[in-house]
Amino acid sequence: MKNSGSSNLIPVYIPTALQRFVGQQETLKLSGATVKEVLDQLVGQYPELKQHLYAADGQLRSFVNLFINDDDIRTRQGLQTPVSEKDALTIVPSIAGGSLEPGAADSVTLSNDEVKRYSRHLIMPEVGVQGQKKIKAASVLLIGTGGLGSPLGLYLTSAGVGKIGLVDFDVVDFTNLQRQVLYTTEDVGKPKIAAAKARLQAINPYITIETHEARLSSENAMDIIKDYDIVIDGTDNFPTRYLVNDACVLLGKPNVYGSIFRFEGQASVFDAKKGPCYRCLYPEPPPPGLVPSCAEGGVLGILPGIVGTIQATEAIKIILGNGEPLIGRLLLFNAMKMKFRELKLRKNPTCPLCGPNPTITKLIDYEQFCGITRGGEAAAEQENQSWEITAKELKQRMDSNKALKLIDVREPHEFDICSIGGAKLMPLGQFAQRMGELDSADEIVLHCHHGMRSMRALELLRSAGFKKIKSLHGGIDAWADDIEPGMAKY
Ligand SMILES: [Zn+2]
Repeated sequence: MKNSGSSNLIPVYIPTALQRFVGQQETLKLSGATVKEVLDQLVGQYPELKQHLYAADGQLRSFVNLFINDDDIRTRQGLQTPVSEKDALTIVPSIAGGSLEPGAADSVTLSNDEVKRYSRHLIMPEVGVQGQKKIKAASVLLIGTGGLGSPLGLYLTSAGVGKIGLVDFDVVDFTNLQRQVLYTTEDVGKPKIAAAKARLQAINPYITIETHEARLSSENAMDIIKDYDIVIDGTDNFPTRYLVNDACVLLGKPNVYGSIFRFEGQASVFDAKKGPCYRCLYPEPPPPGLVPSCAEGGVLGILPGIVGTIQATEAIKIILGNGEPLIGRLLLFNAMKMKFRELKLRKNPTCPLCGPNPTITKLIDYEQFCGITRGGEAAAEQENQSWEITAKELKQRMDSNKALKLIDVREPHEFDICSIGGAKLMPLGQFAQRMGELDSADEIVLHCHHGMRSMRALELLRSAGFKKIKSLHGGIDAWADDIEPGMAKY
């Protein structure tokens, strides 16, 4: 050995993930004339490291990159690249966005049945046996098992993600079936989480499905999220969205984001270690009531299928440590135009959560943050009550006062689904302009689908001096339940 006994000491930088195998050291000084000689000395001194750097056939593992100064050794002479004391050797394991333990896939094996099941992955060099083992070693948490959670659950289960966690507390409803493809008509009335687990486990018995039947809250979020590599946000409300973001930043987990509304979708990957978080993008939530929910605004049934599969794709890419993730990019999709657009997202240097001087260091009260104060809601409800009328009361008044004016403030396409006999259509959007058609001397009852829009119309009439006005509590939905059981509900 030409180098033996020489003082040719090379600094070797050990990545955080591997430091536990070298007594928590960050830098080692080792001798050798080539990269191979330095590595031989390294694994000679720390034998536990060997299985993390080399595969069984003695080849350097594909997810371990070695750099001499700024150069990947593959662009030089590989393991035979010469080194001198002026050089530094850096070990860079290219792993799942930093979220997977290096070597976690090594302790995983694929049975013959699994090899057959995943063969179309295994024959792709971008996945291969190593990639499929990474997928099996990975754990992914799905927050929500609704529109987005359905395609996410189906594809990640089929792809063989080893552990899938489901968080939901809802029950399957008839109105879910138009887009939540995890569920069948027979599942209506069952807890989503039980129906989802049964369906997913039937698709792939080789994976573990963990269920968390709970509403994600500041109290349980850290505890649930900490056991997973990747979190996927499939929620539909702002308090949970901020809660998921904050918990992921505090725990250092990538958060695969998706949102849907009518025919438009958004997707991104928030990983504060490498890019912006959700708070960098939206520091403050919109005021409550400004952004309608899917229940109010509707959603094209196919849209969550598209956005959810984009999220599933991002999750698999993070697990494989392959491709260009949506970190720092916001993908916008419009189904009507069938167009994708992309926006660059930058980390906000003053972000209160992921910036250098964070003011948010633990989870907060997200309902309050989003302006949904329970006390405020109760007070508003009490105030509303004095202006509301029940379906039964309305029926009595209509029977006794034929001159009563019933005004439907829904949209024409909703009126086509169902309407109350004698109601006049005045959609909320035109209400301010058309108020002149009403007479303040008349007894007026306003109604909509669930009772929200009619309260807004009532406010307009109140501020115009109308007094004999009421809003139907629970809207036409309550009317169908209590007065006209044969009426179509939507
Ligand atoms: Zn941030």
